[in-house]
Amino acid sequence: MVDPAPFVTRFAPSPNGRLHLGHALSAIIAHDLAKASGGRFLLRIEDIDGPRSQPELADEFRRDLEWLGLEWEDVPAQSTRLASYAAAAEALKARVLLYPCTCTRKQIEEAGAIDGSDGLIYPGTCKRIASDPALPAAWRLDAEKALAETGPLVWEDELAGSQAVDLSGLGDVVLVRKDLPASYHLAVTLDDAADGVTLVTRGADLFAASHVHRTLQALLGLPVPRWYHHPLIMDESGEKLAKRRGSPALAERREAGEDGRMLAEQLRVQLLSLGT
Ligand code: GLU
Repeated sequence: MVDPAPFVTRFAPSPNGRLHLGHALSAIIAHDLAKASGGRFLLRIEDIDGPRSQPELADEFRRDLEWLGLEWEDVPAQSTRLASYAAAAEALKARVLLYPCTCTRKQIEEAGAIDGSDGLIYPGTCKRIASDPALPAAWRLDAEKALAETGPLVWEDELAGSQAVDLSGLGDVVLVRKDLPASYHLAVTLDDAADGVTLVTRGADLFAASHVHRTLQALLGLPVPRWYHHPLIMDESGEKLAKRRGSPALAERREAGEDGRMLAEQLRVQLLSLGT
């Protein structure tokens, strides 16, 4: 069970599409865990996904959360924090923990990359052969060097228990994208530390990412939160509740006059049946 200490949790949606039931569930869990502990629930807009990002959706997200009956505090959006991502990336590069990678997705597929916990595991091409400095490069974390520096690490999931860090499921992840000073992994780790998040709540589909985030916390000397990866509620066809299959967005349900607080209650009941 969750510790009674006041938790700081967050909901961190990306404004590249409208919110759906799966998002509502994540937000409710984060909100309820914070409030039950006497803590704080934060909203952070993860808006660095370049052309896919639609800034106008941030206000719609706030209307959706209000409609669900949730109370939150806003913290700065990711687009205001690019300098802090760049500084952390430079510090890691200076320690030779990152290497440049010019591979395209096609090249990675052709190099015989195997499927990991979150897509293809990078086969290490640019780690072995220096990449052409004239080409645009992403920067990848050298997992082997990182682990040699941190030694064995553990992280605590409120539902799954203690986890020994294992980067083999994700391989050498990208920390700096070709088009941005950060990737999801670097930005979210720095933001959670900057926002004082003490309980990171998110869907179980992001479980493997926490191995990377725990490693980055150790490398960058950041505080270590606890995690709560909630089960994903599936729809009738076995798909996770999300944007797919044309399920209506929360905003559409709200605009159609549905009672958001009632919907939130129904989701809480569904969660109880999952034993969370
Ligand atoms: N911005 C991420 C998403 O919308 C959230 C990831 C996280 O909670 O760490 O999927």
